[in-house]
Amino acid sequence: MTRNQQSDQRTQRVKKILEALERQYPEAPLELKYSNAFELLIAVLLSAQTTDKRVNEVTRQLFQKYRTPEDFLRVPLETLEQELRPTGYYRKKAQAVRAVSQMLVERFGGQVPRSIDQLVQLPGVGRKTAAMVLGNAYRINEGIAVDTHVQRVAQRLQLTDKKTPEKIEQDLMALVPREKWTWFSNALILHGRYVCQARKPRCEDCVLEPWCPYPDKNL
Ligand code: SF4
Repeated sequence: MTRNQQSDQRTQRVKKILEALERQYPEAPLELKYSNAFELLIAVLLSAQTTDKRVNEVTRQLFQKYRTPEDFLRVPLETLEQELRPTGYYRKKAQAVRAVSQMLVERFGGQVPRSIDQLVQLPGVGRKTAAMVLGNAYRINEGIAVDTHVQRVAQRLQLTDKKTPEKIEQDLMALVPREKWTWFSNALILHGRYVCQARKPRCEDCVLEPWCPYPDKNL
């Protein structure tokens, strides 16, 4: 097979994968609950090492009490720590929330900025969080958030042969049309969480199975 034929085949495969994903996850919302960019940013920070469900349980009350970065700066640190306790690593997370709030107030007028370059200046915010917040809260497709699910599913589907989130993101951005970047990341997160699970992928229930070259399919 020539290189051109190989490339055509790959393009066709990616097209089929995107079509099947769109049928399965036409909307693909995040499972974190939020009503604005600031809430989403805080929710994503709290979601490290825990489930979205647990974060939602905590933020339901948290976001009623604290609506702005200034609100999070006014509360005593110990109080905030106790409120974040159910999400785990609560001391670190309380500090992270405070540090982000502080910088939002000092540098960005209390608003969540609208570019990845600015968002990654916030302490503890990397490209994944930045792309997720921008894409979902502002509908700006500036990157593809690569979390552990996106990484695993993309590797199994052989959409990338890279190992780091940054390089995987570059490969995916080259394959997926820009207007679909946020949806695509959200869809792979859902697919990784519920179907292409880490230990035992549910290949028999997977709509991508016909186009998936993963050698250790669970069929
Ligand atoms: S066929 Fe299996 S390995 Fe491939 S994407 Fe689906 S669940 Fe994952």
